[in-house]
Amino acid sequence: MTDLPMRLNAHLAAAQPSATYRMIDRVAERKAAGVAVISLSAGEPDFDTPVHVREAAIAAIHAGHTRYTQVAGLRPLREAIAAKFARENGLPTRWQDTIVCSGGKQVIYNALAATLNPGDEVIVPAPFWVSYPEMVALCGARAVTVPCTEASGFKLTPEALSNAITPRTRWLILNSPSNPTGAVYSRAELQALAEVLLRHPHVLLLSDDIYEHLTFDGECFVTMAQVEPRLAERTLTMNGVSKAYAMTGWRIGYATGPQWLLQAMEKLQGQQTSGASSISQHAALAALKGPQGFVSEVRQVFQRRRDLVVERLNRGFGLRCARPAGAFYAFASCEGLIGRSSAGGRLLRTDEDVALALLDEAQVAVMQGSAFGLGPYLRIAYAIDDASLARACDAIQTFCEGSTP
Ligand code: PLP
Repeated sequence: MTDLPMRLNAHLAAAQPSATYRMIDRVAERKAAGVAVISLSAGEPDFDTPVHVREAAIAAIHAGHTRYTQVAGLRPLREAIAAKFARENGLPTRWQDTIVCSGGKQVIYNALAATLNPGDEVIVPAPFWVSYPEMVALCGARAVTVPCTEASGFKLTPEALSNAITPRTRWLILNSPSNPTGAVYSRAELQALAEVLLRHPHVLLLSDDIYEHLTFDGECFVTMAQVEPRLAERTLTMNGVSKAYAMTGWRIGYATGPQWLLQAMEKLQGQQTSGASSISQHAALAALKGPQGFVSEVRQVFQRRRDLVVERLNRGFGLRCARPAGAFYAFASCEGLIGRSSAGGRLLRTDEDVALALLDEAQVAVMQGSAFGLGPYLRIAYAIDDASLARACDAIQTFCEGSTP
C-alpha cells in the first residue's frame, strides 16, 4: 500500500535517460555557474529557422489555424510530403501514404510501439543514435546491437546483418547519414543489405533519413525503398524538418510506408498526442514547398566545418578521426588517450572519463562514443560557428597534449 504510488512501469524503470540530454544538463549547470563552456554535444543545427518559414507560422496564427488537425496531419502538408518523397527520393507516394508526427522521434516510437511484442527483436547497428535501443526496450522488445567497426566505415555489412537475423527479428533500423558517425550508405551498400532482407520477408525496415540533406563532397543520398522497390511494402521511410530546415523546436517528423503500419501508427497517435501542432504543420508546409536554397547553403557550411574539425583533430596528439561523409558529427577515436592522466590529474580509463575531463579542464563538451554503443570514441557535433569551433579544437588539442602517461 505505502510503496504503490511510486511503482513505475517496469520497462520505463529499466530504461536509461538520454545520455545526450545528461550532457546538455551538465553544460547548462556549468554555464549557470559562469563557466564559458563550448558545447559540441548537442545534435541540432545552430542556424535560425528560415525567415519565410517563421513568417508562415505567424500567418497561420493570425489566420486562426490554431485548432486540432487531423491525427495524421493536415492534408496540404501530407500532399507536400508525398511530393517531396516523389521529387527527392523517387518514391511514388500518395498523400494517404504519409503520416505527420510530433518530431521524427515520435515517428520512430509510434512505429515500434505499434508493432513490437514481448520477445521481438530489433537489429540496431552500433554505433547508434542513443534513443533506438531505449525505445525498443520501452516497447518491451529486445534491441540486438550489431557492432560496426571503423574498418567497415561504421556501417553494417551484409554478413553481420545475416548473422543477426533470427525468427524473432521484427525490424532493422538503418540511419544514413548516421548520428553519431556521419557515415553514409552508398547505393551498392544498400543493395547488398537489401539482398539479405529479401531472403527474410518477416523483417521490417525503418530507414531514418533525418540527415538526408547533409551529405558532402557530392555524395548522393539514396534511401532503401528507392534502391530496392521490392522492400517498399515493408519499409517505413522516415524524415523530418528538424535538421534540414533548422526546425528542431517545431517538432515535425513524417514518414511514408505501408497502409497497415501507417493506420496502426495513426490509431496510437490518436490516443496519445493527436495531430502535431497546427502552427508547426503550417511552418513545415512552408519549409517543404518554399525555396530550398537554405538546404544547400547549410550543407556547404557544414562541409567547411567538417574539414576544419577533421584536420585539426588529426593534427594533434591523442585523437584520430576519419572524414565523415554526412550529418554534422565527427566520430574520433580517443584510444591514444586511454590509460593516460589529464593535466588536472584525472586517470583517463574510458571515453567517458575523457569527455568529463574535457568538460572540466578544457571547458569543451563532447559526447563519449560508448553512449552510442562504441568506445573509446568521442562524438563531436560541429553545429557551432567557425570561430567557436576553432577555439574548441585548440582547447581539445591543449588538453590532449597536456596528458601524461
Ligand atoms: N533520428 C536521428 C538519428 C536523430 O539524431 C534525431 C535527433 O537528434 C532524430 C531522429 C529525431 O529528430 P526530431 O525528433 O527532432 O525530428
